[in-house]
Amino acid sequence: MFPVFQKFFGRRSFAALTTASLAAVGLLASDLGTAAQAQSVNVYSYRQTFLMEPLFEAFEEETGLKVNFLYASKGLLERARAEGSLSPVDVFLTSDFGRLQDAKSMGLTQALDDEAINAALPAQYRDSEGHWFGLTRRARVIYAAKDRIDPASVQRYEDLTKPEFKGQICIRSGTHNYNIGLFAAMIASQGVEATEAWLTGIKANLARRPQGNDRAQVKAIKEGECSLAIGNTYYMGKMLNNPEQVAWAQAVNLIFPNQDDRGAHVNISGMALAKHAPNREAALSFMRFLLSDKAQAIYSAENYEYPVVPGVEPSELLQSWGDFKAEELPLSAMAAERSTASKLVEKLRFNN
Ligand code: FE
Repeated sequence: MFPVFQKFFGRRSFAALTTASLAAVGLLASDLGTAAQAQSVNVYSYRQTFLMEPLFEAFEEETGLKVNFLYASKGLLERARAEGSLSPVDVFLTSDFGRLQDAKSMGLTQALDDEAINAALPAQYRDSEGHWFGLTRRARVIYAAKDRIDPASVQRYEDLTKPEFKGQICIRSGTHNYNIGLFAAMIASQGVEATEAWLTGIKANLARRPQGNDRAQVKAIKEGECSLAIGNTYYMGKMLNNPEQVAWAQAVNLIFPNQDDRGAHVNISGMALAKHAPNREAALSFMRFLLSDKAQAIYSAENYEYPVVPGVEPSELLQSWGDFKAEELPLSAMAAERSTASKLVEKLRFNN
């Protein structure tokens, strides 16, 4: 069974698999429950293959364990739920804490109280009940046109609602996880009324209906459609290293908001141990490895993300953007406000 399993769970993307082969993977799950799998760890990942490849290689080299990897941009949690106790998945990887929380509330994860993991990771960046753990941090920052916006005028998220910025803000959909995280964090720290007023002010200043991804907003700044945007930090690294996008990056200043008060909003990519993980020990090795100094440094260099483990230096490029103060809110507290944030977006018809 094992070689067949590897064939389907190889390092090739999920998208390359046919419907027929996906069905085969599902059928294999029952066999895998009894197969000796101590030498491998099975990962369902919302993080793209090319992002994770260097980490898997380092892990395999260091431990001799094999990583079987299934990537999809959606549907992995639903898939694990359908597979139930026969699911081959050991570890979930996600690019957002919202999905980690979803995995927990769907009953797909198990609580973990691992000394090494708890010692590496500040309590702020893990589930209070041990169901999920941060792996990398990304700040959600303000991107401002170099030639049109004085950075001193937008030092806080709250500054974006100033009347002088009418028609100048671009942002992706209000219902996207990244924005829901930002809005939920604001509700948790500032209250729902203040957040509603803020969102109303942002909507009043939009240059266009929310659309596109984070990088599309920076592109729109470069093209003069707007002058201010909200986006995640690692996209700056991605744009700077993409010949077609470097001009977008060069058109903006990256501003860490609220440095004199609560700090910039930080989200995480993260991991969770699957409830029915057939390879628990290998999974634990893998999870501990991803929080090692070595893995944290790889993340920062390859993915332009901030280490979640204190004491690990961000890559040189990230250091060139300057130090920043992150908000201190536990992610669990934000998680609790996600549905309120979604309702607010709906109520204000933010995307319309
Ligand atoms: Fe992203």
